[in-house]
Amino acid sequence: KEKTLAMIKPDGVEGEYADVIKKTILDSGFEIAHEIELQLNEDTAKNFYAEHSSKSFFPSLVQYMTSGKVVIMVLEKENAISDWRALIGPTDANTAKETHPTSIRALCGVDTGRNCVHGSDSPQSAAREISFFFDKSTSD
Ligand code: ATP
Repeated sequence: KEKTLAMIKPDGVEGEYADVIKKTILDSGFEIAHEIELQLNEDTAKNFYAEHSSKSFFPSLVQYMTSGKVVIMVLEKENAISDWRALIGPTDANTAKETHPTSIRALCGVDTGRNCVHGSDSPQSAAREISFFFDKSTSD
C-alpha cells in the first residue's frame, strides 16, 4: 500500500478540527500508521517548506506554521497520495468552498495561506516528508 504524509496545520489544531479530520480520514479508508503532535520551530518549518524559500509568502508561511501545534500523520492505503490530495481540496480554501464543498479545506481552511491541512504532492515528496518527521524505515 502507498503512504503519504498528512499534517493538520496550527489553525486546524487550534480550531479543534483534529478529531473530525481524523474521522474523515478513517471513514475514507485510510489507515493512520503513525501520528505525532508537535510544535514546529522556525528551522524545522523553513526546512520543511524549503522549496518555497524564495517566495514572497515564505516569511508568513513560516510564522503560520510555527504559530501553534501541528498533528503529523503517515496515512496508508492504495493511492494514498492522490486520494489524500483530493480529500483536502484546492490550496485556496475559498476556491475549495466554491468548487469542492465537501473537502477538508472547505470545512476548516480560511484562505490560500491558512488552509488547515497539508498533503504530500508526489511519491518523491511523500518519501522526503515522511523521513523528515519519522524514522527512515517508516517511509519504505
Ligand atoms: P501543502 O504543500 O501545504 O499541502 P499545497 O501543495 O496545496 O499545500 P503549495 O503551493 O505547495 O500548496 O504551498 C504550500 C503552502 O504555502 C500552502 O499550503 C499555503 O499554506 C502556503 N501558500 C501557498 N501559496 C500561498 C500564497 N500565495 N500566499 C500565502 N501562502 C501561500
